[in-house]
Amino acid sequence: MRGRMMEAPLLVSSLIEHAGNVYPDQEIVTRTVEGPIHRYTWSDARARAKRLGSVLVAQGIREGDRLGTLAWNTHRHLEVYYGVSGIGGVCHTLNPRLHPTQLVYIINHAEDRVLFVDLTFVPLVEAVAEQIPNVETVVVLTDSEHMPETSLGNAVSYEDFIIDGDIDFDWPHLDEQAAAALCYTSGTTGNPKGALYSNRSTVLHAFGICMPDVFDLKAASTVLPIVPMFHACAWGIPYAAAAAGSKIVFPGPRYDADALSDLMSQEDVTYCAGVPSVFIPLVQYWKNTGSKPESLNMVVVGGAAPPRALMATMEGEFGIEFRHAWGMTEMSPLGSVNTLLPTHRAQSVEEYSHFQTKQGRPPFGVQIRIVDDDGKPLPHDGIMFGELQVRGPWVIDGYFKEEESSLTPDGWFPTGDVATIDSQSYIQITDRTKDLIKSGGEWISSIDVENTAMGHPDIVMAAVIGIPNEKWGERPLMIAVATPDSSPTKESVLKYLSETLAKWQLPDDVIFVDELPMGATGKVRKVTLREEYGGE
Ligand code: AMP
Repeated sequence: MRGRMMEAPLLVSSLIEHAGNVYPDQEIVTRTVEGPIHRYTWSDARARAKRLGSVLVAQGIREGDRLGTLAWNTHRHLEVYYGVSGIGGVCHTLNPRLHPTQLVYIINHAEDRVLFVDLTFVPLVEAVAEQIPNVETVVVLTDSEHMPETSLGNAVSYEDFIIDGDIDFDWPHLDEQAAAALCYTSGTTGNPKGALYSNRSTVLHAFGICMPDVFDLKAASTVLPIVPMFHACAWGIPYAAAAAGSKIVFPGPRYDADALSDLMSQEDVTYCAGVPSVFIPLVQYWKNTGSKPESLNMVVVGGAAPPRALMATMEGEFGIEFRHAWGMTEMSPLGSVNTLLPTHRAQSVEEYSHFQTKQGRPPFGVQIRIVDDDGKPLPHDGIMFGELQVRGPWVIDGYFKEEESSLTPDGWFPTGDVATIDSQSYIQITDRTKDLIKSGGEWISSIDVENTAMGHPDIVMAAVIGIPNEKWGERPLMIAVATPDSSPTKESVLKYLSETLAKWQLPDDVIFVDELPMGATGKVRKVTLREEYGGE
């Protein structure tokens, strides 16, 4: 027997409708690319997203067409999110930190018809314009006053583009399974591949991340997504904030610690989210200047394993609740969050920060398991480790334009991460499959060694890779960046590591460099390090 409930598709347009109706005066604040702070409301954002949507329809954009963005976190980018997905288009966020040849590949693979581009990235598009013949229009996210001289024959300012749009435009009724957004994976391994989110998956993910033990978004929150809108849709915050009615503060192009910190103080930001590498300089800045924003009481940090020292400082020194999250582009991206329980908080920061290195528990909507090399499920005992597999309504089943399924025969998505899961379902990622170092038949977790090294007072960042070794199969090599004005020695680092690691787990060598090669989403590119040091 069927229930007697309404058919109400879960659509991205329903999120902005909700925000515009229920939280019309809640603010959206942006540090603009042009410079000044821009301030308006969810009601204004809805009106302008409708104008954009109506213009796109008038210009012949049809359901399923891909429209790319090369843009910072701003209010205009938010309007593009909603204006494009709202009419059934696919909002394809491009990562401007990629190499131009990769961008060309992705734009052509996606067959983007329109590009929405921030002023910063106009030269980038000019340089590749001839290689992206599918792009009919380049909409520069600015007004006519700030429109640059450009060699692009098909460029128009965003404000001119939407000027005749209809603020009362009715969003079309779409199938909730219609594609809404497209993100290519960061490309730390192999060629970029597209994760194609649906309206339904996007809305369910937004519900999921609002939950108290996940991102805990509410109308009383002022959220600053440091995570870029081109990295897995800023982890879904632009959608979840509309569902929850939160105030959003967009940092625009300024990612330096003082600009971020000032904006947080000025706008009473309560909450922000990003990868570990942005929080490390931020914490250093607060330590140096004593200017930690008073209102900031929670951070979600994920995308890579944060060092324990960062968690302990955030919690112990600055009183900020630290939520360690794990996920991947293929999961929209949220997979798990480590939200401490009262029993953990009864311990000292020193004790519970060890527990915080675990990636946490999955929210309702994500199921997890670990399997051995034969695909056989392993016990959740916190000891056995195997490949982490996931399933749920916001996990992909295959990549964009790929016929074949990406799932196991029994319907799970293999993440390529290696993990333990304990009896309470806390995940601990020990490595990515290829990052696990096998020495003399014993596994060494490069993440463990890196985390420990980053607790050394003179080490800012460290990466550990496996180097082929005749005797042991593989041995770990550490490549490290020292804090300014310090000169740690290999001996001092190894001595420090040996306080918590077994002798055989210690790197054979420590090489000091000025900086580590970083991928487009702020992660260390181990592929590059392996290429450079693999023969050591
Ligand atoms: P991306 O799709 O670029 O977000 O990359 C996803 C991958 O980043 C995951 O499969 C993990 O290997 C890694 N990752 C994400 N979050 C974490 C975390 N909290 N700890 C360790 N690795 C992480």
